[in-house]
Amino acid sequence: MNFLDNLGLTSLSSENVYYSVIGNNLRETGKGDAFSVNSPINGMEVARFRNATPAQLEEVIQNAEAAFKQLRTIPAPLRGELVRRIGNFAREHKEDLAKVITLESGKIMPEALGEVQEWIDVCDFAVGLSRQLHGKTIVSERPGHRMMEQWQPLGLVAVITAFNFPMAVWAWNTMIGLVCGDSMVLKPSEKAPLCALACQSIVEKALETMPEIPKGVTSVIIGDREIGALIAQDKRFPLVSATGSTAMGRSVGETVGARLGRSLLELGGNNAMIVSETADLDLALRAIVFSAAGTAGQRCTTLRRLITHKSIQDDLVERLKKSYASLPIGDPTVAGSLVGPLIDQRSFDTMQNALNAAKEQGGEILFGGERVTEGVPDGGYYVRPAIVSIAHDAQVVHQETFAPILYVLTYSNIEEAIEIQNEVPQGLSSAIFTESMREAETFMSATGSDCGIANVNIGTSGAEIGGAFGGEKETGGGRESGSDAWKAYMRRTTNTINYGGELPLAQGIVFE
Ligand code: NAD
Repeated sequence: MNFLDNLGLTSLSSENVYYSVIGNNLRETGKGDAFSVNSPINGMEVARFRNATPAQLEEVIQNAEAAFKQLRTIPAPLRGELVRRIGNFAREHKEDLAKVITLESGKIMPEALGEVQEWIDVCDFAVGLSRQLHGKTIVSERPGHRMMEQWQPLGLVAVITAFNFPMAVWAWNTMIGLVCGDSMVLKPSEKAPLCALACQSIVEKALETMPEIPKGVTSVIIGDREIGALIAQDKRFPLVSATGSTAMGRSVGETVGARLGRSLLELGGNNAMIVSETADLDLALRAIVFSAAGTAGQRCTTLRRLITHKSIQDDLVERLKKSYASLPIGDPTVAGSLVGPLIDQRSFDTMQNALNAAKEQGGEILFGGERVTEGVPDGGYYVRPAIVSIAHDAQVVHQETFAPILYVLTYSNIEEAIEIQNEVPQGLSSAIFTESMREAETFMSATGSDCGIANVNIGTSGAEIGGAFGGEKETGGGRESGSDAWKAYMRRTTNTINYGGELPLAQGIVFE
């Protein structure tokens, strides 16, 4: 496969077992259990790895610590220059990188290219940021005094990623973390380790052009959740940024919290769209199809609940069924496919279990849900995206099933719609389609959507990197990427400076 060669990934190790530990000239095959990576496209094995061991993790941590000690002394704009070069290499290899994403995650090529574009975009954002890591100056209550805030590099940051955004999530964290002066350690999803090696290989290309930057500023450790759990326990990571299921986030959050570290959690969503009786249905329809069926329903921001006004529901569902019926399902590497495979058989079984539960809980499958075996590569789990009519409070509707199931729910007035939108435990993304200013503003107000993302006349998925990304409640509360999300990767110091000749105490205290 040329694209792997172009990224230097085919000759990494003998016997076709890839390195599990890389960074800072460290290149080692894992010394733990072996596992294969199978492409969701056709189930074929694409790579073999061995899990890294705790001793190998220790080595990575020590290298990352040494790199941090140097990196924190390098001016932020020079760290930005490294990220600018990383962005340029990512541009040069955009198609190669996208192909690795498609191979491991099954994402269609246009979406995989979009994911690499997110990486490139966040590089541009981080380069600008490298000259804008500023604090405030604050007036002091004491004469001859001044106060100011500074933001300092934090240390080692672990990035634990999910299979469905194997490069973008790493890039949101790592490009920002690097300009902040942190040493970044990636523990990728065990389903997408080649993507992690591809990311590291791009960073290494940029590092080769800048010998003044230490080599160990990024590293990769490939392993299962046990390595992830060891990272969460280790005090040498002041920040653990973890993306994945709520169950994973609960475990990581509790472990990091128990040692009073910081965690940045980006967990599951159960995203809803309200479609009002005033909505532009043509616009809504396009947004629904992309948000609900795109990436085969495997985005954290995938639209899972469609809350429709009772007066337009029948019409909308009929149009939706027609649209779903013409969706090209198939090989994600072939131009024209819009719905690729599920990640694996387990994911297919979970989808079928959810559909059965929906039926048991009074729901009716209006469209799809079944496996597609014709016109698709053998060995992959391709499904027809499902539309299910069901009560808003059915138990299955309140869970995130990571597959393309769209639950259609009914409401009569906007207050009820917002209540339904907010009644689930997750709080990532939400949207309203309406032409009513009053409804739109109410939806975005303090009494509106309780999610981290609340859109008007846009679907739930496909966020831009310029905003802070993340969600509330069981989604974990973390924010990544744009806006002021960089502050999570730094430590704040408040400095008070006395330039006078007296020593007045704060609050007017006299101590003599
Ligand atoms: P997952 O939870 O199975 O795995 C995610 C990562 O966590 C993997 O690297 C895994 O090895 C690691 N892990 C699992 N258990 C762990 C533990 N106890 N301690 C430490 N590490 C552990 O998730 P997945 O199936 O890869 O991804 C799908 C999930 O990710 C969905 O719930 C989706 O909504 C969520 N997701 C959220 C966002 C977001 O930004 N909010 C983005 C992408 C995916």
